Amino acid sequence: MTSLKDFVLRENDVERNCHIYCKVCGKRVDGELLDLGFTKFIPRIKCECEIKRDKENEER
Ligand SMILES: [Zn+2]
Repeated sequence: MTSLKDFVLRENDVERNCHIYCKVCGKRVDGELLDLGFTKFIPRIKCECEIKRDKENEER
């Protein structure tokens, strides 16, 4: 089971049905829980907004 307390929420994140979604583009941003033994965390999946922002930064 995914424990969302292991996920760092960002400004535009919203929790729904035990997952985290970007409220701007609606894409799910929480990945599969990674258990490294000494620590557990949920990696962030890039949403449409972030991918777009990255592209804009590259083009600059
Ligand atoms: Zn987004």
